[in-house]
Amino acid sequence: MTVFDTIVVGVGGMGSAACWQLARRGQRVLGLERFDIPNAYGSSHGVTRIIRLAYFESPNYVPLLKRALTLWVEASTAFGEPLMITTGSFDSGHPDCIEIRGALESCQIHRLEHQVLTGSEVNRRYPGCLLPESFAAVFQPDGGIILSERAIVAHATMAIAAGAEIHGRETVLDWSPIAGGGVRVTTNRGTYEAGRLVLSSGAWIGDLVPSLSTIAVPERQVVGWFQPRNPEMFTPAAFPVHCLETDEGFYYLLPAHRVPGVKVGLYHHRRESGRADALSREVASEDETILRRCLARHFPKADGPVMALRTCMFTNTPDGHFIIDTLPDTPEVIVVSACSGHGYKFAGVVGEIVADLATTGHKRFDLSMFGLGRFDA
Ligand SMILES: Cc1cc2nc3c(=O)[nH]c(=O)nc-3n(C[C@H](O)[C@H](O)[C@H](O)COP(=O)(O)OP(=O)(O)OC[C@H]3O[C@@H](n4cnc5c(N)ncnc54)[C@H](O)[C@@H]3O)c2cc1C
Repeated sequence: MTVFDTIVVGVGGMGSAACWQLARRGQRVLGLERFDIPNAYGSSHGVTRIIRLAYFESPNYVPLLKRALTLWVEASTAFGEPLMITTGSFDSGHPDCIEIRGALESCQIHRLEHQVLTGSEVNRRYPGCLLPESFAAVFQPDGGIILSERAIVAHATMAIAAGAEIHGRETVLDWSPIAGGGVRVTTNRGTYEAGRLVLSSGAWIGDLVPSLSTIAVPERQVVGWFQPRNPEMFTPAAFPVHCLETDEGFYYLLPAHRVPGVKVGLYHHRRESGRADALSREVASEDETILRRCLARHFPKADGPVMALRTCMFTNTPDGHFIIDTLPDTPEVIVVSACSGHGYKFAGVVGEIVADLATTGHKRFDLSMFGLGRFDA
């Protein structure tokens, strides 16, 4: 049996980045993925994701975001293909809403370049937008698009080039600690051993760590791409990525790229949670109606024929923050999951954090808000 330094379970957004970061440090790495690499069953498909620095969720994410930006540039250069497109980012809503207050707090604490505009000013500068005059909007110029599916291909390709072994279509059925140190992993194809185990299995984390099944809860999402009536207003050069807090919740939009349509989604869509394999992958007319509501009100020139609709999964923790920690009883096992609908932009830096934990144990960031101990109470 080949013995590895580290086995990574789940070669999706986080796992593929971890494989690259570990392999480039000379680690013997095995990456195991139950579906294809990339696939359209987990949380990272749908071509693109938003990256934004004016982070309304918490200013504590900003140091990681700055490192994430550097690593997206580094990965793009190493792969020879852009994995990020800078468009700038907008956060908009009522001036005292959670999103505006949070975005401004992150900008102010971390001295991020930004501008505050009124809804009318946004509409004048970006004629694809129709925000209420009373809205405020925070523009931050470093935000943009990450090509999420392509980035999985890039990270996996670069990991293999650096010596990693990666297997698609191989399901991890079980893992157990080995007396004296290390872990044994059983799949539908074989058994492997390693000094460390990284569990980056996204929405399926509860299958591999049952105690997390009530803490990291999968939720069905639907995103849509709609053909704009004025396509020139919705290119990456003309339309910054946009998060919008409304009475119905938080919508997000990305300019047309690789699919001939503006991409739109609503955080927590229809609030349908359950086991990952039990959530519906079908799209219903109600799903489209929810997404069109935002376009009709705030981006009517993008409210054209549907180009594509896709389901996807969030994995939510009770506080909406990530899990990046070792298991208390099995410190050789690192869990990196439950990115609560906002994790992809961090994939590169999370890969680096995981590689640090698996090799030196060094923490280059304060990871306390991602620890498992916070759920003890
Ligand atoms: C609709 C939608 C929009 C989003 N928008 C954004 C955004 O704009 N910006 C942002 O930053 N984030 C966004 N997110 C969140 C982000 O996409 C996720 O946080 C991120 O993709 C999670 O990556 P992951 O590696 O944890 O999961 P995945 O990429 O799903 O990887 C997990 C992998 O593990 C594999 N696996 C599971 N179990 C096993 C097993 N037993 N054996 C082997 N393999 C296994 C799965 O097949 C899967 O490929 C969005 C998410 C969704 C669903």
